[in-house]
Amino acid sequence: MPTKYIIVTGGVLSGLGKGIAAASIGHLLSAKLKIVPIKCDGYLNVDPGTMNPFEHGEVFVLDDGAEVDMDFGHYERFLGVRCKSNWNLTMGKVFNMVRKKERRGDYLGKTVQYIPHVTDLIKDHIGQVVKEESPDLVIVEIGGTVGDIENELFLEAMRQMKKDVGRNNIVFVHLTYVPIPAGVNEQKSKPTQQSVNLLKQRGIFPDIIIGRSPEFLTPEIKTKISNFCDVKPEAVITGLDVDDIYEIPIIFEREGLPENIHKRLNIYSPPDLRKWKKLVENIRNPDKEITVAMCGKYTKLEDSYASIIESFNHCSAHLRCKVNLKWVEATGLKDAAWLDQVDGLVVPGGFGSRGSEGKIEAIRLARESNIPFLGLCLGLQLAVIEFARHVCGLDGANSTEMDAETPHPVIDILPEQRAVTEKGGTMRLGAYPALLTEGSVVHSLYGAKKVYERHRHRYEVNPDYHEVLKEKGMVFSGMSPDGKLVEFIELPELKFFCATQAHPELKSRMEFPSPLFLGFVKACMG
Ligand code: GLN
Repeated sequence: MPTKYIIVTGGVLSGLGKGIAAASIGHLLSAKLKIVPIKCDGYLNVDPGTMNPFEHGEVFVLDDGAEVDMDFGHYERFLGVRCKSNWNLTMGKVFNMVRKKERRGDYLGKTVQYIPHVTDLIKDHIGQVVKEESPDLVIVEIGGTVGDIENELFLEAMRQMKKDVGRNNIVFVHLTYVPIPAGVNEQKSKPTQQSVNLLKQRGIFPDIIIGRSPEFLTPEIKTKISNFCDVKPEAVITGLDVDDIYEIPIIFEREGLPENIHKRLNIYSPPDLRKWKKLVENIRNPDKEITVAMCGKYTKLEDSYASIIESFNHCSAHLRCKVNLKWVEATGLKDAAWLDQVDGLVVPGGFGSRGSEGKIEAIRLARESNIPFLGLCLGLQLAVIEFARHVCGLDGANSTEMDAETPHPVIDILPEQRAVTEKGGTMRLGAYPALLTEGSVVHSLYGAKKVYERHRHRYEVNPDYHEVLKEKGMVFSGMSPDGKLVEFIELPELKFFCATQAHPELKSRMEFPSPLFLGFVKACMG
């Protein structure tokens, strides 16, 4: 069977959930097919690693160390795949490649042009991924909204692909918006019509239209969209507003999306959502409830912590326990009143000194009051600083990231990290192994001696302070295989006090929640 392609575009508005739609389509087809998701982003950054999460949402990190768009989080969580760096194509990457080729003389004698040179490069890149992975199906998500200048070249490349791969091997899915204006109380198709027209002007004729809407699309509106946009009525699918994104594959199945794709592509891979539905049902009908304080810097934008939120959803699905996240703005932490209203504290990853003192104070309160604590990356570093200051008596202990002059740099950049200058400066990125100490909390949670979690940080626990921290009772329950880097810490005499230098939230899945999150939530449940 030739490789099949599903191209997902979006119209009308950004933020309609194209990534989740693409991931959900993939989920529904994944039973029998090997699927590779590819995301094309129009921005000129080479990757989102240097973008502010407040603006762009979480930076997702892959096993191979690539910093990619947060939609890769959805792909991995919905498709059960481990994505790779070259599955994310940005205009920044494309232009880098074009310039490199031009300088190398690859185009000698030619005027280098958007069409065909840039569009060819986009298609060649996708072709290369297909060659490497031999997938049955490639899902290409085009970032942005049709009509944006930024994504024109990607759309043009997708238009050309029809001819290259054959019309029976490619399906165009367009996500739009079907509003129900207040007062009118009727589903409106005009934005969809206009957005589809923009797409048609670019030579792309959608086969399937997903209309994001607060209600199921009525047969009338489906007929109307069908008439105006030249798709079959059954190919107009509701993209319902839901509380929980894991419901989307269930909605799409109910709306007949898989059959539509099967027919168009001449494939057959019926979904089996039984287990998935049960887990979603558990999220919907919890029999317990806990409240967890999230003490971060970007508390105004939940997208900045998307994977952490999803990790808690995965725990909810398995423990039937609703996890309410109470966002505590670390920069404004003045008193401990918030502590009485929560069952646990999470200090997530972060960069820079803003809010670090507030977070350290929050960790001190959690430790002294024996409230379950989970530290992620920066959360581990701040827990070590707190312990150094208040238990080891190392006044002014800090990370050199926060205070370059600290008398006790318990967290510091290690010399070997300083030597690395590629990609994101001195960051340690991607999956690294850790060896867990037998008998430790993390060892029992993971049920394994060697675990791989993903990293994205510069600083480490300074080896000069390992001994004093250990002497005072901090357990280094996971170390890098060479024994130099602290990967997990815990305070075993407390109910639950664990932290890791990694980001276990990046590998949590609906079917396989992160063991560390699961242990933390169970501890919060008491
Ligand atoms: N800023 C810290 C470091 O670079 C922690 C990074 C993080 O939490 N991802 O080491």
